[in-house]
Amino acid sequence: MSDSISDLLDNNARWAGKIQQEDSKFFERLAAQQRPKYLWIGCSDSRVPANVITGLAPGEVFVHRNVSNRVENTDRNILAVVQFAVLSLKVKHIIVCGHHDCGGVGAALTRSTDGPLRDWVSPIRALALDKKCLQSDFDNQKDWVNRVCEMNVEDQVTTLLQNQYLKEAADSGQQISVHGWVYSLQNGLIKDLNVSASNLD
Ligand SMILES: [Zn+2]
Repeated sequence: MSDSISDLLDNNARWAGKIQQEDSKFFERLAAQQRPKYLWIGCSDSRVPANVITGLAPGEVFVHRNVSNRVENTDRNILAVVQFAVLSLKVKHIIVCGHHDCGGVGAALTRSTDGPLRDWVSPIRALALDKKCLQSDFDNQKDWVNRVCEMNVEDQVTTLLQNQYLKEAADSGQQISVHGWVYSLQNGLIKDLNVSASNLD
C-alpha cells in the first residue's frame, strides 16, 4: 500500500531498474514500436487493472477505461481509441470487461448520483428497463446489479460490432474478434460471457 505520492516515484524507479536488469533491451524495443494484439475496454474502478489481472506486460494491451466500461457512439474519446487500435495498431481482439459490484451500474440503477456521472451512466438504467430486467425479479439488489453489469457488457459488444472502423477493417479483410467478459472482485476471476463475435461474421 502506497501512502505518499513520493512512494509512487520510488516504486517506479525500482520497477524500471528491475526490468532493465532482467532484460536490458526491454525499453529500447518498446520505445521503437508498440504492437499490442488486444484492445481492452474496462471500468475505471481501481480494483480492475487490465495488465495485472491478465498477466500482460507493457506493450501487450492497448487500454481504454471509463466508468462502467461504456462504448458510446457520441463519445469521441472511445471512438478515437477504437479508430487507432483497429486501423493503426491492427489489434486482433477487443475485450469489453465489466465487473460485478460496479459502482457506476449501481448508481445508474438506484439513480443515486447527479451531474455528468448521472448523464454518463443513465443509458445503463434505460438498458435494464428496456430488457425488462427489474429488481423485483431478483432476491436482492446485489444480484440485480451484477446481472445488469453483464448485460451492460453484452450491450457494448453489440455496439462495437456496428462501429464504422470495425466495418472498414472487415472490408479490407482484417478480422477482429470482440469479446465480453466480467470480472469478480470477490475472487479475481474473469468469466467469459460467451458473446464473442467477429467483425467478419
Ligand atoms: Zn465499475
